[in-house]
Amino acid sequence: MPAERLTVVIAAYNEAEALPVLHPRLAAVLDGLAGEGVEGHLLYVDDGSGDDTWAVLEALAAADPRVSALRLSRNFGKEAALTAGLDRVREGAAIILDADGQDPPELIPQFVAKWREGYDDVHGTRIARDGDGWFKRTTAHGFYRVMQRLSKTPIPTDTGDFRLLSPRALAALRQLRERHRFMKGLFGWVGFRQVSVPYRREARTAGRTKFNAWKLWNFALEGVTSFSTAPLRVATYLGLLTAALAFLYAAWIVLKAVLWGDPVAGWPTMMTVILLLGGVQLMALGTIGEYLGRLYEESKQRPLYLVDRWRPATGVSLDDLAPEGERPDAYRPSVAGNEVG
Ligand code: UDP
Ligand code: MG
Repeated sequence: MPAERLTVVIAAYNEAEALPVLHPRLAAVLDGLAGEGVEGHLLYVDDGSGDDTWAVLEALAAADPRVSALRLSRNFGKEAALTAGLDRVREGAAIILDADGQDPPELIPQFVAKWREGYDDVHGTRIARDGDGWFKRTTAHGFYRVMQRLSKTPIPTDTGDFRLLSPRALAALRQLRERHRFMKGLFGWVGFRQVSVPYRREARTAGRTKFNAWKLWNFALEGVTSFSTAPLRVATYLGLLTAALAFLYAAWIVLKAVLWGDPVAGWPTMMTVILLLGGVQLMALGTIGEYLGRLYEESKQRPLYLVDRWRPATGVSLDDLAPEGERPDAYRPSVAGNEVG
């Protein structure tokens, strides 16, 4: 039987401290899998880190022939970094894993076993999030439930990016080139045979989280706007409700004037109505604006990321790593001294 190929894709942004801890764990897991006929590879994507991450990755690649490293031209965000990595997995399955050790690499053999059973998307579902505070735990819990109600695309709850994708799931994912990438939703959209593997989410091994509350809020907005148009409909129903109430109120005012005359009072009522309607209208406009802004950005058709430099693993040529339709020499470092191995 020919060896099955598996590439672990890791997005790393300022993870110089965490990577040296993670890599030996990953290497040990891949060593174990090699005995079962799985040809393991590692593809690290440096998402424009400002620390020594790239130097660490070059050292890892020099020491381990299974390691390829890719550096983006700036920080594009985790979703773009993962896309850059997945675009370069041309053969076999891929596994997505966080650089900070929160997704235990020791689970990979279980994922592979499920893949062998015929599943296309094997994802880790967190039964506990030991590493996260109560704020993150409760907001994340709420977010997944709201998303499930709002979106028609099935998005498994408490499931992050930690997952294995079969070659056909990968090929499908690669066709989704939207700029606003809510990966959890994209995985769900692809479908095929999915299965979840429960695990305990550990604390970060080193470094600190890149996602503060504001970033998480924006991430949630991204999720809702990418996979649901329900907020747009809210304006319609609010409008209908307001109109219905307004008709009733108007009838009451006319009746009152006819029965008891019109003493011209009601300044408080008028202010309340004006302010309420103004507020509701602005909110509805803002909602439309959120969607319109995203539409504008999609329409620009910019690439999802740019590659600064890469260091393919020993025995892998630049051509092997270039996604289809991309000239491999397009990203050859132009500055002398940046030449890659
Ligand atoms: N990450 C990235 N680009 C970013 C932010 C994060 O590639 O702009 C990577 C980060 O290095 C890590 C993963 O995404 O491997 C998850 O980030 P983090 O641990 O900070 O998120 P959390 O686990 O706290 O949600
Ligand atoms: Mg983390």
